[in-house]
Amino acid sequence: MTTTYPLHSDFSPADQRFPTQADVVIAGAGIMGAAAAFYLARRGIKAVVLDKSRIGGQQSTRAWGFVRQQGREAAEVPLMMAGMRLWEQLETELDTNLEWRQGGCLYVASDEESWTSFQQWMDVARQYGLDTRTLNRSQIDDVVHGMQGPALGGLYTPSDGQAEPRRAAAAFASRAAQAGALFFEGCGVIGVERAAGAITGVVTERGTIRTSRFICAAGASSWKLLKTLGLELPQHAVRGTCMRTNPLPAITASTFWGHGLGVRQRANGAINLADDMQVDVDMTFGHFRALKWFLPELWTHRAKFSFHLNGALIGDLHDRLPGVVPERERVLHPRDPNPQPNMGHAPRALKKLRNLFPALKDAQVVESWAGLIDVVPDGIPVIDAPSQVSGLTIATGFCGHGFAMGPIVGKLLAEINDTGKPSLDLTEFRLQRFFDGTMKRPRSML
Ligand SMILES: Cc1cc2nc3c(=O)[nH]c(=O)nc-3n(C[C@H](O)[C@H](O)[C@H](O)COP(=O)(O)OP(=O)(O)OC[C@H]3O[C@@H](n4cnc5c(N)ncnc54)[C@H](O)[C@@H]3O)c2cc1C
Repeated sequence: MTTTYPLHSDFSPADQRFPTQADVVIAGAGIMGAAAAFYLARRGIKAVVLDKSRIGGQQSTRAWGFVRQQGREAAEVPLMMAGMRLWEQLETELDTNLEWRQGGCLYVASDEESWTSFQQWMDVARQYGLDTRTLNRSQIDDVVHGMQGPALGGLYTPSDGQAEPRRAAAAFASRAAQAGALFFEGCGVIGVERAAGAITGVVTERGTIRTSRFICAAGASSWKLLKTLGLELPQHAVRGTCMRTNPLPAITASTFWGHGLGVRQRANGAINLADDMQVDVDMTFGHFRALKWFLPELWTHRAKFSFHLNGALIGDLHDRLPGVVPERERVLHPRDPNPQPNMGHAPRALKKLRNLFPALKDAQVVESWAGLIDVVPDGIPVIDAPSQVSGLTIATGFCGHGFAMGPIVGKLLAEINDTGKPSLDLTEFRLQRFFDGTMKRPRSML
């Protein structure tokens, strides 16, 4: 039997009195908001975490579950190396089974272009002393069993791992709540009050909370919230599809990417499967916003994006009509998006899986789902306390690889909101990079 969990956290916060003041208010109870609340609580700082919908209702429970250092932009590698030390202890620390397995991450190159890029990435690994190495065919066969088809070589990081996204954000939230954090679902943040440039309160659907510290961890909606503070964030959402199979014979404890397939085999044999790392873009009028930042990269990385003119465009047009979405609700709209998986992915991915691993001939897709991935033009997140608004911290724009970063980002957010000094250098993750000419071109936008 495949174990399935709902696409939101199974942790339900107790019914509590809504507070009028807080040490820190956090918008968004995905893995970033929940982990921040946990690490703040460990420092004796009690956060109030508000989600316009459900705890872990968006990306954080919809991820594939790769926890990798490998293949990242160089700027992210020190964060993820520190993050791995947290993951290694997390099940003990949260006293929860997260289905953590440290079985490595393997990318397989079947063409020259991929093989060249793997070899180039070795420079990044060497720079930081990461345990990544390139593999020949027989070494690949030691990591993943029974793979057919060509392989020019592999890129492998033994210290990488995997965990179950439907467990992690909930575990952080539940432990944070036990330590004094307050969580409220169905309560959006709609604005932030300031005096002399500093935060004095957070305006929510249930009233204003007096505070001097606010963390924006609102995933793909962060740009809307930041706009209420006069800050521009070039951020869009794309639709990523994921599938899960029936339990199958064990082929690998490593996460695997190759031959157009992403594979994460859980301990019970079921595989989280992704097709071609391709995402869908449901075009709306909103896509014209921030287009100047995205256009050059969209063109370079166009093979990864599949553009659609569908009901989303009509829905968007309808929502823009006067009075359809009340002014106050605009920052929260759509409140609880439930993107649908691209149903073309399952048959294609299954065919590739069965051809690539004949031992998996009985593979069936038992579940498909989708999530709205928040992307920014240079493929790395914003983790910043911008000087324009004293008391504000931002953690967003994780471009499809933030599940793995959740614990370390939560810890850094706690450090910033406690001592003002993060233990790692966050210069590359400043919001201002989009405006001061220091933004770098990404290796990959996702
Ligand atoms: C299909 C898919 C596969 C992925 N695979 C991987 C993977 O294998 N490895 C990996 O590392 N990453 C992966 N990711 C990316 C990862 O899931 C995200 O980067 C990460 O979960 C982002 O967490 P978050 O807390 O920033 O956002 P979210 O989980 O999206 O949470 C944001 C929350 O903010 C709330 N919110 C929004 N606006 C407001 C408001 N105004 N007031 C209150 N609340 C608000 C939302 O309701 C939501 O619950 C994947 C993502 C998808 C969709």
